[in-house]
Amino acid sequence: MKPFARSIAVLIGLMVTALLIARPIQAEQVRSTAAPAATAARPFRLPFTDPPGPGTWYLGQGYGNTIGAYFQRDVMYRAGQGLHFGVDFAAPCGTTVVAIGDGAVAKVDAPEHGALPHNLLLQLDAGYSTLYGHLLERSKLKVGERVTKGQPVGLSGDSFGTCHSAPHLHLEIRSPDYLTAYNPINLIDADWNTLALVGAYQRGFERDLANPRKWQFPDDQPDTKFAGPLLNNFAQPWPPDWYRRR
Ligand SMILES: [Zn+2]
Repeated sequence: MKPFARSIAVLIGLMVTALLIARPIQAEQVRSTAAPAATAARPFRLPFTDPPGPGTWYLGQGYGNTIGAYFQRDVMYRAGQGLHFGVDFAAPCGTTVVAIGDGAVAKVDAPEHGALPHNLLLQLDAGYSTLYGHLLERSKLKVGERVTKGQPVGLSGDSFGTCHSAPHLHLEIRSPDYLTAYNPINLIDADWNTLALVGAYQRGFERDLANPRKWQFPDDQPDTKFAGPLLNNFAQPWPPDWYRRR
């Protein structure tokens, strides 16, 4: 091969190599301009239409191994392995709550699911069920009725029924058969890190000093298997039980 022809061959080889290298970069650029991956991983929306704030709603107790659930592990949360198996949103009584996803009404005021005085269960098309707890009044929706994401489904209430004791919405996301509860923080598309900076949420999670990093973050909490064994009978709990009993 003549030197000129060899140069041409090398040049063509370099161009082909450059094209092969460029192709994955272009694909990466296309991906980066697409919708955030979190949308697919977190298919649901918050149950409120207003932005958070002191006059609207804010994050109360988180899901999972909370300090509050630990102290109630043998009583209120025994059936849920000692965990707080939903998320609490503090809100004035009468705040409109909306469907977190498309679905259908499964149950209206089902006492077997707790969270009285009124609750509402939806079966969601994305393959989950959800419970709205401590509602102010019986939802006007009928069993079997279709709901769309963002549609008003009820009014938030108070777990003591007073509207000045503990007004909040308790929201659960479960499997369609209701036997497993999941961490809503990993399924609802929201800025959870910012939401967790204010309010009662800062009380945080119960710690096992024998394994102090276990279940200490909002998005790192175990699923709840109803009627399963307690998960937080810790060897060295902190805060300890005597702290609550004083
Ligand atoms: Zn709750």
